[in-house]
Amino acid sequence: MTAALIDGKAVATSLRARVMTAVRGLADGHGVVPGLAVVLVGDDPASEVYIGAKKKMSAETGMRSIDHRLAASTSQAEVLALLARLNADRDVHGILVQLPLPPQIDPHAVIAAIDPDKDVDGFHPLNVGRIAIGLPALAPCTPQACIVLAKTVHASLAGLDALVIGRSTIVGKPLAELLIAQSATVTVAHSKTRDLPAASRRADLVFAAIGRPEFVRGDWIKPGATVIDVGTNRVMREGRHRVIGDVAFDEAREVAGAITPVPGGVGPMTIACLLANTVRAACSLLGLPAPAL
Ligand code: NAP
Repeated sequence: MTAALIDGKAVATSLRARVMTAVRGLADGHGVVPGLAVVLVGDDPASEVYIGAKKKMSAETGMRSIDHRLAASTSQAEVLALLARLNADRDVHGILVQLPLPPQIDPHAVIAAIDPDKDVDGFHPLNVGRIAIGLPALAPCTPQACIVLAKTVHASLAGLDALVIGRSTIVGKPLAELLIAQSATVTVAHSKTRDLPAASRRADLVFAAIGRPEFVRGDWIKPGATVIDVGTNRVMREGRHRVIGDVAFDEAREVAGAITPVPGGVGPMTIACLLANTVRAACSLLGLPAPAL
């Protein structure tokens, strides 16, 4: 069997087109252009690439993107002061602070200082809690992206056995919450899990968010399963820099029913979900109903 490719780029393009329509509706109907403020502290090269892609794509949808680039030596107090200004700015509807932050800055203090209504990354404790108790909230973008991509294969995830490999607060844990909300039967694996290959072979849906290149092997996959690879690992192959996933793609593709490529899977969808969250935040701040995206 050769798995169908889940084309994250195409799914992301169609979500961005719906975002663009919603942005136009806000501009024409309410005179409001959604604004996304991005805060980058320091010069982490991976963050630079990600921020560049966000800026380009937010501009394409007609949003305003406002970058705040701060020196690596910036103090926590300075970052908190900037966030207070952005929270109060009526032209800013979404705020994103790029992680990781330099060591002198506590990421928990920074995330807690973002207005939860503008928290388009969905990392604020209030949004995390609302998701956990099943209330509407801004959900984190990468987990949202995973759900949307899985649903391109399965109209409903109800009753499916889902394995999430990784329990980080930005991917694994919130993804497990969103899968529970979809009525999947969820197992969360991590570095202490015993017999991960056996757990994987039982799963209808495998989500790999580990950060280890090609860690999940083809013989871990149940025939016909859907594999969503979150991993973004920069490696040298044949003398060239390449980005590869947490799943051994060529092996898994022979067994799975459907699989996301890396790059071109979860990555572009994550950015599209960020833009969708910005439009949702703008509507909510304006007291308008949530847009159908
Ligand atoms: P992270 O915070 O480092 O978490 C990694 C998780 O993997 C941890 O829960 C860890 O378990 C688990 N793990 C590590 N070794 C393992 C092993 N041998 N067996 C089973 N589990 C193991 O990473 P993250 O931030 O969640 O990111 C994961 C990957 O996704 C990275 O490659 C990252 O670059 C990528 N990513 C991509 C996007 C995107 O938009 N495409 C967005 C975010 C992240 P413990 O908790 O026990 O240590």
